[in-house]
Amino acid sequence: AKGEGRNNFQFYTPQMDENADKRLLLETSLRKALDNDEFCVYYQPKVDVVTKSITAMEALLRWKHPKLGLVSPAEFIPLAEETGLIIPIGEWVLRSACRQNRAWLSQGLPRMRVAVNLSGFQFQQKNLLEMITAVLEDTGLDADLLELEITESVIMQNPDFAVSVLNSLRDIGIHISIDDFGTGYSSLAHLKRFSVNTLKIDKSFVRDVEISSADAAITTAIIAMGNSLNLKVIAEGVETEGQLSFLSENKCDEVQGFLFSTPMPAAQVAEFLQEHRRD
Ligand code: C2E
Ligand code: CA
Ligand code: CA
Ligand code: CA
Repeated sequence: AKGEGRNNFQFYTPQMDENADKRLLLETSLRKALDNDEFCVYYQPKVDVVTKSITAMEALLRWKHPKLGLVSPAEFIPLAEETGLIIPIGEWVLRSACRQNRAWLSQGLPRMRVAVNLSGFQFQQKNLLEMITAVLEDTGLDADLLELEITESVIMQNPDFAVSVLNSLRDIGIHISIDDFGTGYSSLAHLKRFSVNTLKIDKSFVRDVEISSADAAITTAIIAMGNSLNLKVIAEGVETEGQLSFLSENKCDEVQGFLFSTPMPAAQVAEFLQEHRRD
């Protein structure tokens, strides 16, 4: 920092050094993670509030770094997006999830969708539809057993573009959910143009739904909006019986959260389904 002047010096802290080091380490190792087989996919069930059946399993990416241990997707997905690595990584997740759902079917598990999170970068790729079609063909999974979760903010970045991409996905029979719904400023006017199946209420509203009248109002408004547009509504981050009762009384269709299951490795899903049927 010597010779760079006082103004630069004041920004310099050991904490920043550590962050920059970690970032560099993450970025270098993220490039090798796919080849080194360090990723795996966990699955978290979506539960029908009325029938209690499992409608889908959401694929959530996990990175087992050889030195740092388990790295959270909240930490490495943004890095993957900045570096463009999200494109090969996202395709890998999609392929793994479709292959896994096909395997569950051949094991005799009940039909359910597999839901894959789609990054905004993937959503903007010109060859998105071709990539997905190829994965479905390669893995032999029916399109109606695949669901894509796309965040409201990604869709709202360019609503006109989103309409055409969502239409093309709908046309091949894929189920679409708007993820983190309530955080991205959709109006009813926009919503009715989007060919989507489900609104997913963000867990930030679900958390305090019993104690915050604002969160309760937002949650019931989203459910009412979904119902009036003939969309399914799911709530994420459901952790307590109290939250479940609130959602059930207000006619939310599906729920997902630690109350039912934390995300689990694929190998535990068959056992979970058996346990769940006995409950
Ligand atoms: P998301 O799609 O909104 O996923 C929900 C997050 O909430 C997951 O965190 C999940 O493990 C967590 N969660 C589930 N139930 C509960 C609950 O009852 N309480 C609380 N507090 N949390 C709960 P996770 O797995 O760490 O993923 C974080 C985010 O990383 C995801 O948010 C998603 O945006 C992104 N992500 C994960 N996997 C992928 C992927 O394959 N592709 C892309 N593009 N993004 C991914
Ligand atoms: Ca999601
Ligand atoms: Ca969320
Ligand atoms: Ca049980």
